[in-house]
Amino acid sequence: MKLHNLIFIGMVAGAVGGWLLWRVDHLAHEAGTPVPAYHAHVLWWLDLFGPTMFMGALKMIIAPLILASIVAGVTSLPNMHELGAIGWKTMAYYMTTTTIAVVIGLVAVLVIRPGEKAVAQKIRGPYEEQQVEVRAAYEQATGKEALQASGDPEPDYIRTLIAERSENTRGEEAERFARLAAAGERTPGDIFKQDIIEQLLMNPFQSLAERNSLGIIFFALLLGIACTVVGPVAQPLVSFFHALNGVIMQVTHWLMAISPFAITCIMAKLVAENGPDIFQTLGWYCGTVISGIGVHVVILLVICAVVGGVGPIRLWRGLSEALLIAFTTRSSAATLPITIENVTENLGTSRKVANFSLPLGATMNMDGTALYEGIAVIFLIQIFGGLDDVLIEMTPMTTFLIFVTAVLASIGAAAVPDAGLVTMVLVATAVRLPIYYIPIIFAVDAFLDMFRTTTNVLGDSIGAIVVSRLERGRLGENDAAAVSA
Ligand code: ASP
Repeated sequence: MKLHNLIFIGMVAGAVGGWLLWRVDHLAHEAGTPVPAYHAHVLWWLDLFGPTMFMGALKMIIAPLILASIVAGVTSLPNMHELGAIGWKTMAYYMTTTTIAVVIGLVAVLVIRPGEKAVAQKIRGPYEEQQVEVRAAYEQATGKEALQASGDPEPDYIRTLIAERSENTRGEEAERFARLAAAGERTPGDIFKQDIIEQLLMNPFQSLAERNSLGIIFFALLLGIACTVVGPVAQPLVSFFHALNGVIMQVTHWLMAISPFAITCIMAKLVAENGPDIFQTLGWYCGTVISGIGVHVVILLVICAVVGGVGPIRLWRGLSEALLIAFTTRSSAATLPITIENVTENLGTSRKVANFSLPLGATMNMDGTALYEGIAVIFLIQIFGGLDDVLIEMTPMTTFLIFVTAVLASIGAAAVPDAGLVTMVLVATAVRLPIYYIPIIFAVDAFLDMFRTTTNVLGDSIGAIVVSRLERGRLGENDAAAVSA
């Protein structure tokens, strides 16, 4: 049986098994009886085989793979001019598709208005009640009006309200909230310095150890260009990276062989821990994100067919393993080895382009994440808009601000599970949406991350296909033949 069919069966089996486990836990809670002891054991084994071993093995090879694949890609190009041509075309594709994604997200959330539906508005109730209490307590304690004559809240009152709300959000989500709060305290200047410049210039060994893809990519590009400039003297180094690249692809093949079993475990664990309840209040929100993604995928498929010359059926046949693995692992970085394998071996895309553009795309080009960022923030504004701490008007300026920051947040998001949720702080703070509202969407984030990550991987792969086709005239003999195959 084909590998992608096995992965698909694994995914479904995992979902069913996970649901049964969730049910056992749920029924025990309802009956007030202890959860059977085997429940925790099964989860432990699922975690061992899925996230710990399979994803661990993928993560083990990502850093050396990015380094080797980019150096191999750059040094196999006929000249530096070609690198420039591939580079700007790749960037132009990334920027265009990311922009389209954010626009689709904004239109979807402004048209469907998921936050204004009755079920979503139920979430607002307790916050409104809390506001009334805090306002009354504040006025009694200080003798001051909480709202000034203009209707603007008194700054001291707002601080009290914010402190109260942040306190409430802690508890079980404490760790995630602390991450958000820490991210929210940085200025855009700090973010630029710490997240971009410092990462780019990090010592390469540290970058490899910490899986800092931005640093690895930059160092690899520098190394590749320097090898080309130096010429024959650098040949041993070039051969080393080509060999390393080939060897890591072999390890990828081995990992792919065990992927159906690992995917069953990952899926079962995810479903067992989350269960179906979460969709009740956030159903419209999930629907909005998924329909936005659906529209974007159609646009990507059209680009792929028209510009890349690969139709949807051939694309699915060639890329299904990477897409299914992206869906379950929720990490474009973990899927990268398989994406490179699928794109080059099954779709005949130029290795020179794929080696260079796929690691870059996995790190920077995230259409699904970009689309989701805008929807999530506007959804929260739709629910909480008008509360004393959310005095945000959805003007064209606010929408534009969300658009720009959503693009930046998607570029800055790491290619790991839940990364989009963390960078959402950037978008929220830009429009002054207090970040303690973000945890409301935590519950469905893992589910939406599956769709985001699959879209991210699809976008990167189509980018490689498109650029490869556009460049086929200038690439070497082997590549040109492969592209047109
Ligand atoms: N999990 C996504 C990825 O790896 C990033 C995100 O959280 O949106 O592509």
